Amino acid sequence: MSDCLFCKIVRGEIPAKIVYQDDDVLAFNDIRPAAPVHFLLIPKRHIESLLTTTEQDQALLGKMLALAPSIAREQGLGEGFKTAINTGLAGGQEVFHLHLHVLGTPQG
Ligand code: AMP
Ligand code: ZN
Repeated sequence: MSDCLFCKIVRGEIPAKIVYQDDDVLAFNDIRPAAPVHFLLIPKRHIESLLTTTEQDQALLGKMLALAPSIAREQGLGEGFKTAINTGLAGGQEVFHLHLHVLGTPQG
């Protein structure tokens, strides 16, 4: 998707503070953090939202959830964090490239 904001971040056309990436996924800090640590974990491949995922995306979705705690730990959230996926206009989604919000406060 050429005009998708998060695809542009994947392609390096828009800067972002990247905290993790591999062949399948990218994690970067949210530009308007709602907590001291707030990053978004996205598939590199354009998927609009959870509403458009199929059975073929099961492994990717599982990978995203499984990766969240290890990236969160690296960001100081080893004691815990919140996750959210806003889905569809009615679900408050603003950027239509699937993303998992991970938010929290490092515990001193
Ligand atoms: P959602 O409402 O779940 O679609 O959340 C979209 C999120 O993307 C919001 O928390 C925004 O602050 C965040 N966001 C929008 N533009 C950027 C950007 N260029 N870099 C990082 N995060 C962004
Ligand atoms: Zn996209």
